[in-house]
Amino acid sequence: MPEGRIVKALSGFYYVADEGRIFSCRARGLFKKKGAKVNPLVGDWVVYDAISEEEGYVMEVGERTSELVRPPIANVDQAVLVFSMFKPAFSALLLDKFLVHTEHAGIDSVIVLSKADHATEEEVAAIVQKYEAIGYTVIPTSTKQQRGISEVRDVLHDRISVFAGQSGVGKSSLINALFPGMSLQTGDVSEKLGRGKHTTRHVELIPLEGGGYVADTPGFSSLEFNGLDELGLAEAFRDFADRSAGCKFRGCLHVSEPSCAVQEAVAAGELSQERYDHYLQFRDELKEYQRRN
Ligand code: GDP
Ligand code: ZN
Repeated sequence: MPEGRIVKALSGFYYVADEGRIFSCRARGLFKKKGAKVNPLVGDWVVYDAISEEEGYVMEVGERTSELVRPPIANVDQAVLVFSMFKPAFSALLLDKFLVHTEHAGIDSVIVLSKADHATEEEVAAIVQKYEAIGYTVIPTSTKQQRGISEVRDVLHDRISVFAGQSGVGKSSLINALFPGMSLQTGDVSEKLGRGKHTTRHVELIPLEGGGYVADTPGFSSLEFNGLDELGLAEAFRDFADRSAGCKFRGCLHVSEPSCAVQEAVAAGELSQERYDHYLQFRDELKEYQRRN
């Protein structure tokens, strides 16, 4: 039986893309994985049974590499985190928070520094160096100067990507520069934090020429620490996790433990004090979140 990718789900129909053709499919019964019910998600790789040139049934859902809840998409490979240099000003705190979420979700991050035309090269380079040292790809862009656009297009190739970032950072402008005519649904983190207005939107994966997909809605509509525990938070800091083999205690949280390689590296200036401060701040937020829920 043929296989394809669910690119859209609407009113009980799953739209399965297979080599340029779309089959509107209903799900055949329930899908069970390890005893639990699995609902097909946009992004799922599925086995389907075609009953005509346009219709079929989803028969089987493949293993997922990742699963986002809001927006609900399976198998996202990477988040393109768009952070502007100006209006809104660059926030390392917010970037580190997004990175905790992408690490926790098990997806890669590409950092796009938008509106680079509004900053000096020194300011841009400092951020690039800091995050590249941790292992992230950082791409300065400017839609005004057509800078970095082809680099962003290259990282999207053959992958499933979601864009994320505050309102006003330039996600729509970037998408437009990348793919003229494609539009991004609005609904950014900052707007959504105003709670309560959970409008139901459907997510759609837009196929890219040459391979890959981009979700038509921004990712991470909530930045709450649900599903995360203390150790998960520590592990979401990649630069800390890389050093933790040197800590005396397994499962070291790098706070007050003796012979902690992370605290030593921060003290020696080998790891960013700012990242470490953010870590401590997120620990407090996590505890507060756990207390409330
Ligand atoms: P979104 O809310 O993230 O989708 O952001 P928009 O794409 O709507 O952009 C917000 C504002 O930033 C608009 O006024 C854009 O014209 C402006 N903007 C976007 N990209 C750039 C850029 O590269 N340079 C400058 N100077 N302004 C930009
Ligand atoms: Zn430690």
